Amino acid sequence: MPELPEVETTRRGIEPHLVGERIAGLVLRTVKLRWPLDPLLCDVLPGQTVRSVERRAKYLLLRLDRGTILLHLGMSGALRLVTAGTMPGKHDHVDLLLSSGQVLRFQDPRKFGALLWVTGDPYLHPLLARLGPEPLGADLNGTALRKAARARRIAVKSFIMDQQTVVGVGNIYASEALFRAGIRPTLAAGRISLARWKRLAEAIKQVLQEAIAAGGTTLQDFSQSDGRPGYFKQQLLVYGRAGEPCTVCHEPIESIRLGQRSTYYCRYCQT
Ligand SMILES: [Zn+2]
Repeated sequence: MPELPEVETTRRGIEPHLVGERIAGLVLRTVKLRWPLDPLLCDVLPGQTVRSVERRAKYLLLRLDRGTILLHLGMSGALRLVTAGTMPGKHDHVDLLLSSGQVLRFQDPRKFGALLWVTGDPYLHPLLARLGPEPLGADLNGTALRKAARARRIAVKSFIMDQQTVVGVGNIYASEALFRAGIRPTLAAGRISLARWKRLAEAIKQVLQEAIAAGGTTLQDFSQSDGRPGYFKQQLLVYGRAGEPCTVCHEPIESIRLGQRSTYYCRYCQT
């Protein structure tokens, strides 16, 4: 599943090709992804210019003259830029034709993605309005986390994966950030000190920034937006390493299920 770093990598990849371009047409090859695709978009979008390409959580926002295309890659979606006339594959469901002659192509084998047209302030859309803070901004910090966690018994790993706490901390990143911060994933969120929350907030930012820098972690169904197949696998210190030696203390990394998600940690380095 595309995680926040992959979505941000996509945003950075497509942005320079989209901003300032006029939309020349829209091709829909399916009636429905996660939700039905509105055929009227084929009349509404052409002629409008892309003003900016933004991201909120794992949503991409293509802001046009009279509204916003809200995109979500779902479980298996990917955006690529191809030249006009490139034959679509079986799972290439949507093409956005640009005045440059390029095509923004939305591929989504499992069809859990979304493409919605939103007028008015897109950040007030029900899908976005109640999301927690962005992990890379100043809103995510130790003080805010501690305040949100007050008296909560939920395990800290589940707490930081909750989209109302902070968006975009997926399972891999939660395990990695907790290892770096030295916090055991099962610890009750309400029992963590401010100093430790501060370390965790920094660790979350670090692991996500490193993943973005690496072009996103390995993922089966994602192709980078310019069509290169490359993925530079981020070095994971605990995730997927059960039984292997901890990089710090050399004791074996342990694996448990927590909130139905596989969870990796070092019982000596994380307390
Ligand atoms: Zn260790």
